[in-house]
Amino acid sequence: MSRDRTPIDLLVFDLDDTLYPEREYAFSGFEAVAVAYTDLLGPPSRTAARLKEIFDSGNRTRCFNQLLTERGHEVRANLVGRMVETYRAHRPRIALHVDARECLTLWRRRVKTAVLSDGYLLAQQNKVAALRLTGTVDAVVLTDQWGREFWKPHPRGFELLQERFALRADLCAYVSDNASKDFVAPNALGWITIQAKRPGGTYEHESAPSGGQPRHAVDDLRDLARLLVPSKR
Ligand SMILES: [Mg+2]
Repeated sequence: MSRDRTPIDLLVFDLDDTLYPEREYAFSGFEAVAVAYTDLLGPPSRTAARLKEIFDSGNRTRCFNQLLTERGHEVRANLVGRMVETYRAHRPRIALHVDARECLTLWRRRVKTAVLSDGYLLAQQNKVAALRLTGTVDAVVLTDQWGREFWKPHPRGFELLQERFALRADLCAYVSDNASKDFVAPNALGWITIQAKRPGGTYEHESAPSGGQPRHAVDDLRDLARLLVPSKR
């Protein structure tokens, strides 16, 4: 059994929809925006509830525009921009998926662990703080610190982690949900790639580009123990 498992020394996780549900972050942000714009939008609970409905109806990128239109307000770019700023700057109320929490507890004692995530820096920093990841994993790399051109599929974040821990590529594994971009760079470097299938996740239905297919897929992060084993045991 253990002979079939791949030895690793470094286990790296994506953040959104891999370790926690991104929809919860969106809802938490809607509540913050609803409170901040009470004068314009009325009772916060009603505003937040409508934004959640808009999000769940499939409009995940222009929720504020749709709400403003529905309420008869002019959709001014600077107003929407300020609402997005409030959303990204808010302190989210989010929690790890249960399987992610148990997986991190197990693997952080066995190998080096890290988080590698794209997304707007302040928003990602607030998520990392809310989930207390800095004290949990050995390294947190947020690619937006270098600019958007370094978001996945750019390899810089993966190369940095491999160098920081001075490891061979085949001893590094990346676990993520989004097949459209997340596995291209680690595959090219020779890492082990594993897709976390998250029903209802934002990128659940994305398909992989050439070279971007994950090597494995799991429905539950606790199942990583069936695929991987610490190299030094
Ligand atoms: Mg993700």
